[in-house]
Amino acid sequence: MSCPKCLAKTKQVKDGYTTAGSQRYRCKACGCRYTPNPQDQGYDEEMRQQALVLHLEGLSLRLIGRLLLVNHQTVANWINSYANYLPPDLPTSILELLALDGDIEDVLALEQEQNEPAPRN
Ligand SMILES: [Zn+2]
Repeated sequence: MSCPKCLAKTKQVKDGYTTAGSQRYRCKACGCRYTPNPQDQGYDEEMRQQALVLHLEGLSLRLIGRLLLVNHQTVANWINSYANYLPPDLPTSILELLALDGDIEDVLALEQEQNEPAPRN
């Protein structure tokens, strides 16, 4: 355990729990309190990787945004964050899962609907 502020690895003591039930810590070096694995902050890694998978399959950022229910600008930021680093174990594309449910045609119709060229990185 290391402090996110001063990066001290010693003098890190448990300091109760957050309302979400996560263990909280306090750094005795700088006095700050922090939660190592916050439960409700931002989007999880799996969702970002899913966006990357869909992007690699050629979907537009807008369509990815609609599928994952996030702003397409957020999707763009996620994709950009992977520009120099591809995770070794990418999740299975939700497109395959949708295909199993027979929803794939809806998705493709959605893609054609928005006949708009995706911005190139
Ligand atoms: Zn500290």
